[in-house]
Amino acid sequence: MKLTEAKPDQIIPVPPLNLAANFTPLRDEIIAGVTEIMDSGYYVLGPRVEAFEADLAKYCGSPFALGVSSGTDALLVALMALDIGPGDEVICPAFTFFGTAGVIARLGAKPVFCDIDPDTFNVDIADLERRITPKTRALMPVHLYGQLADMDEILSIAKRHKLPVVEDAAQAVGATHNNRMAGAIGDFGCLSFYPTKNLGAIGDAGALLCQTEESFTKARSLRLHGETKKYHHRLIGGNFRIDVLQAFILQVKLRHIDAWTEQRRAVADRYTKLFAEAGLAPELVRLPIARIGRHVYHQYVIRAPRRDELVAFLTERKIGSGVYYPIPLHLQECFAYLGGKAGDLPESERAAKEVLALPMYPELTEAQQISVVAGIRAFYGR
Ligand SMILES: *Cc1c(COP(=O)(O)O)cnc(C)c1O
Repeated sequence: MKLTEAKPDQIIPVPPLNLAANFTPLRDEIIAGVTEIMDSGYYVLGPRVEAFEADLAKYCGSPFALGVSSGTDALLVALMALDIGPGDEVICPAFTFFGTAGVIARLGAKPVFCDIDPDTFNVDIADLERRITPKTRALMPVHLYGQLADMDEILSIAKRHKLPVVEDAAQAVGATHNNRMAGAIGDFGCLSFYPTKNLGAIGDAGALLCQTEESFTKARSLRLHGETKKYHHRLIGGNFRIDVLQAFILQVKLRHIDAWTEQRRAVADRYTKLFAEAGLAPELVRLPIARIGRHVYHQYVIRAPRRDELVAFLTERKIGSGVYYPIPLHLQECFAYLGGKAGDLPESERAAKEVLALPMYPELTEAQQISVVAGIRAFYGR
């Protein structure tokens, strides 16, 4: 079926995600390993986790990788390793997942929000630098939707101001620029393996990439309540451990991540082609702009007029979509104490009103993509 021939009644349902499809081809290998782990009686940390950490560090080109309980905890441990606390400020974008800023506030520090570049949805470099004060203790760029933030500029700002950089690479496993990989460019890189992420566990998990042995040793201690040796605590950490089952499954899946990324990129190219064919872009909807390095398309996000009506229209036809994120962080209720108001960060606010993520996964078929684009075309009456 060609897009131009798609009739309204040929619009087929497209699920927003299909996580099981990702598991099916690896089923036998994973089930065998899971059985072995169950029989071993060894379920948390230990040699199998270390084996995964070694593979992950190698894949990311990072000297050290530490498996942790979630992407959020990776961010938290990074800030704890930097001793960030009350009186400190940490700069992050206003347009990101809540967890990025939540960890700053949880440590008693002040999240300082900067605006985003309207093309890439990542930090606006000039605005980031403008918000640095004598209290700033770290910069936290996010590689939103799978595209790297402008790390060359961010690292040069960081160097000028002598600030550490914590990358929120939760959506960008495998994204590269100039042969450097997301998470392995700044001082710390935080990955999430939440099931919907590009490299997904079967529950919660994450990893922290560290550049120095000193920071790695400290982060590893923080992962286990700040233990230096058993029952001796030099620091106050937490339980940020990763399970053996998750580490094992991630280790198996890591071998396929590059193939899946290529499939995602092919899906993105197909969307772009279909939108042009349908006469929807660039006139009506704005398509993603891949400006920096290898975009891994955690999401394929368009800007769409009358976005909320479009979502309702697609939902009615069982075509999945998602809004990441509808409220910028400076306008979240829990951050009202920071005094943010509408109008403060115009690009973040505009993005929150316009963005729409379309179904995006390696297994997405051309027929499904045609259905998505035909559905959008039907909404706009084209
Ligand atoms: C998913 C995500 C996180 C948090 O990861 P969890 O594993 O869900 O805790 C943090 N930041 C961004 C940008 C994310 O997308």
